Amino acid sequence: MKSIIKYFRELVMAFYSLAQGMKLTLYYFTHVRKVNITEQYPENRETTIRIPERFYGILEMPHDENNEHNCTACTLCELACPNGTITIDTAVEVTEDGKKKKYLDKYHYNLGTCTFCGQCVDACPSDAIHMNKQFELSEYDKNKLLLVLNKPGSKLKAKEKKS
Ligand code: SF4
Ligand code: SF4
Repeated sequence: MKSIIKYFRELVMAFYSLAQGMKLTLYYFTHVRKVNITEQYPENRETTIRIPERFYGILEMPHDENNEHNCTACTLCELACPNGTITIDTAVEVTEDGKKKKYLDKYHYNLGTCTFCGQCVDACPSDAIHMNKQFELSEYDKNKLLLVLNKPGSKLKAKEKKS
């Protein structure tokens, strides 16, 4: 007797679940102009494609028009990365007043091991790196995934003097 009750209970639940699914389908069917259900990708790549605001794509280091960035080579992002994706090479220069100063030589970023978690960005105290919205990242050659984020000849942005 118990097994018969169980059978009918599961049958009712299956119909209920089906009805819920059909209800949602019907909603999208009747609100097709209000709800964006699918993207016409890749045809809309350059036109109507919508990337969610919180989407994390590839890591980047913004440079200004003077080829300057905000990275002080503190290595906090390197420490924060759970995958060892970031390796920072530093160099040392001697300033005019004779002090030794560390600066960023190369910011290595292995796109092949990045999980786009954003922990490096959160760890950065200088707002020097961002996750951009780029998502078409596949390559045939994995060596092309080994990137250097600071541009050749770039340097640390000079601090603006407080007035
Ligand atoms: S996004 Fe995550 S995995 Fe990628 S470099 Fe930053 S901390 Fe590492
Ligand atoms: S990107 Fe930010 S956290 Fe990473 S080394 Fe540069 S200043 Fe430090």
